[in-house]
Amino acid sequence: MAKPRIAIVGAGFAGLAASRQLSRLPRQEADVHLFDRNASTTMLPALPDVAGGRLEPARIHADLRQLLKPHIQLHLETVQSVDPAKKTLSTAEGVFTYDFLVLTCGAVPDRRGLDEHQEAAYTLGSLADAERICQDFTAYVQSRSSPQVLVVGGGYTGLELASNLKLRSVRLGRPARVTVLERKDRFLAGLPDRIRAYLEKQALRQGIEIRTVVKVDSFDGRNVRLSDGSCHDEVFLCCSTGTRRGLPELQGEKQELPDGRIVVDEYLRIPQHPQIFVAGDAAAILHRDVPLRKAVNFAYYSGQSAGRNILLELRGKPLQAFRPLDLGWVIPFGSTAAGQVLGIDYLAGRLPLAMHYAMCGYRNFTLGNKIYFAKSALRALFGML
Ligand SMILES: Cc1cc2nc3c(=O)[nH]c(=O)nc-3n(C[C@H](O)[C@H](O)[C@H](O)COP(=O)(O)OP(=O)(O)OC[C@H]3O[C@@H](n4cnc5c(N)ncnc54)[C@H](O)[C@@H]3O)c2cc1C
Repeated sequence: MAKPRIAIVGAGFAGLAASRQLSRLPRQEADVHLFDRNASTTMLPALPDVAGGRLEPARIHADLRQLLKPHIQLHLETVQSVDPAKKTLSTAEGVFTYDFLVLTCGAVPDRRGLDEHQEAAYTLGSLADAERICQDFTAYVQSRSSPQVLVVGGGYTGLELASNLKLRSVRLGRPARVTVLERKDRFLAGLPDRIRAYLEKQALRQGIEIRTVVKVDSFDGRNVRLSDGSCHDEVFLCCSTGTRRGLPELQGEKQELPDGRIVVDEYLRIPQHPQIFVAGDAAAILHRDVPLRKAVNFAYYSGQSAGRNILLELRGKPLQAFRPLDLGWVIPFGSTAAGQVLGIDYLAGRLPLAMHYAMCGYRNFTLGNKIYFAKSALRALFGML
C-alpha cells in the first residue's frame, strides 16, 4: 500500500490524544492530518466559570500549533461531510481522501426547537460562547434595575451556568432573579435522589429557582412566554438543552443515537466502515449496554485507544478493545459541588469542587494553566474561592 493518509476530525481531548498516538508513526510511514474549525483547543468544563467572569479565557485554551508534533499537518477547516464509500471528507476548501479516519468532532449545543432569535438566546458550547455570555451579561445587568435570567434546561451545564450568572450579578451589585426551567418533572433526571436534594438545597441558598414541568412557548428576542402562561419581559435567555454531534453529515450505513452519537464496536470502529474510528463525545461507546456519558476522561482515553488501534492495524497486529475506566463525576455548583467519585456514592461540598478543578488542571494544555488550576483546587478545598 502507498503511504497511508490518516485524517482526524476534531482537536479536542479525543482528537489530540489520537494525534499523540499517531505522531509515533515516522513521517515516511504515514501522513497524519488533523482538521479543526478553530486554531485553539478548549478545556470545556471550565466554560461556565468564564461565562460568569470568574476565570480569564487564557486559562482554558491553547494554540493547536504549539501542541502538535511538527509532522502532524493541521487544517483549520470545518469538515462538512464524510463519505465512507469513497473514503473522502469535504470542507469548503475541497475534498480530502483518507485511508483511515478518526472522528473526534465532539458535540455542539442543540437548541431543541428554540431556534427563533438565536442571536438573543445564548448557548454554552465553546470559548466564544462563554466570552459572549460574559460580555453581554455584564452589559445587560448594568442596564437593568431588575435583571432576570432564564436558563432553559435543568442539566448540569444549565445549573452551573445559572450559578455563575447569579454570582456575577451579585458581584456587579445588581442581583439578578435566576430561574432554571426544566420540561421534565425533575431536574438532573437520572441522578441519585440524594445528590439532587443536595443541589436543590444549594440552589435555594444561592437564590436560584428551579421550576419543573415548564417550557418556553415563545421568545421574540426579548420577552418570553412560558407554557404555564407566565410572561417574562426583557430577560437574559440561555439554552442549555443538550447537545448533538459536531459533524453535520456522515453518509452510509451506521447506527446512531438520537443525539447523533455513532455506535462503535469494542475497537471504536463503525462496524459497517472499519476504516473509521470514532471517539469522545461523537461516539456511542456501549459499556454494559449503556452509552458512556460525555466526559473529558472518556474522550481522552477513547481517543488514545482509537489512535493506538490504527497504529496496530498498520503494523498488522491485533487491535485492542477499549475498556473504559469510570473514575466518577462531579457537578460543580458555585462554591460547592456534588458527585460520585472513585466508587464513593455520595460526595458533596468543597472536596468534589476541588476535584473538579484538579481535573481541569490535570487535563489542561500548558504547564502554567495546570499550576493555576492546581492552586484553584486548593483554594476550593479551603473555601477561598
Ligand atoms: C459547559 C460544559 C461543561 C462540561 N463539564 C464537564 C465536566 O465537568 N467534566 C467532564 O468530564 N466533562 C465535562 N464536559 C464534557 C466534556 O467537555 C466533553 O465530554 C469533552 O470535551 C469531549 O471531548 P471531545 O474531544 O470528544 O470533543 P470536544 O472537546 O468538544 O472537541 C471537539 C473538537 O472538534 C472540533 N469540531 C467539531 N465539529 C467539527 C467539524 N465539523 N469540523 C472540524 N472541526 C470540528 C471542535 O472545534 C473541537 O475542537 C462539559 C462540556 C461543556 C460544554
